[in-house]
Formats: sequence, C-alpha cells, structure tokens
Amino acid sequence: MSLTFGPDRQTREFQCDCCNAPIERAWNFVYVDGMVYAVYFANCYHHRGRDHDAWIDVIFGTWGAGSEQWEDHVSFACRVGPVAGQDEPASTLVTAGLAHPDGPLFGRKLDREAALQHPRLPEFWKVSDFILEHDPLVRGHVYGR
Ligand SMILES: [Zn+2]
Repeated sequence: MSLTFGPDRQTREFQCDCCNAPIERAWNFVYVDGMVYAVYFANCYHHRGRDHDAWIDVIFGTWGAGSEQWEDHVSFACRVGPVAGQDEPASTLVTAGLAHPDGPLFGRKLDREAALQHPRLPEFWKVSDFILEHDPLVRGHVYGR
C-alpha cells in the first residue's frame, strides 16, 4: 500500500489561545492508488517556554464523489515531539479532534484508550509516519528545517 498526498494541500497560521504564539496548520488528503483514503490536520505549536511539538489528526472513512458519508468516519490523533530521556522525537496517542470543533467530518473521535483497541491503529501509524516524513511543515517543525 503506497500513500500519496492529494493535490490541494493547504496551510494556515493562527494564534495560540494560551500564549498568542503562532500555530501553523497543514491539511491535506492522503490517497492510496488514486483514491482518497484519509484526511489529516497537523498543527505545529510554538508555545512560549514549551517544547515545539506537532499534533496530527487523521480521519478515516468513506470519501467520495459528491456523496459524502460521515457515519463511518473515525479519527485518531498523536502528539509528536520531544520526550524526556529520548534523543528522537516520539509519537504518543492523544484524543482526536481536540483542536477542532465538533462536526461530522471527524466522526468518532477516539481517545488514547479507544485508539489502542481499534483495528485501524496500524493504518493510523502508517499515515502519521508518512506525514512526518513528507509533509514539509511537519517535518521541518519536528526534525528541524
Ligand atoms: Zn500556547
């Protein structure tokens, strides 16, 4: 299964509620074999006095030509950033959709416990690794520009 990005990647910058530092967000579709497979939102934080980290939400579901269905959407999220005692940034499961208003797009927002039990967890890690490696904003933020 090889993943590719959709053609319409978007980025936006807004202000952090807690410290007014900039937050950079990238979002895009991820395709498999030319078909939409998932959507992601990646928020890159620059909180003052805290680690730079990225929070990645990935939504799986049925995507399609004009007949969007939401019932089967399910979302996962992880935080990627420095952790004590490790040289490399690490990914940690977190509750999905925390930075996003409730809406049908995210479907069922899994928390860490639910994500650990979910059969699509390996797919989530595959997509989040792909984003970490290939989304220029996320990669630059987590691994240095
Ligand atoms: Zn902040």
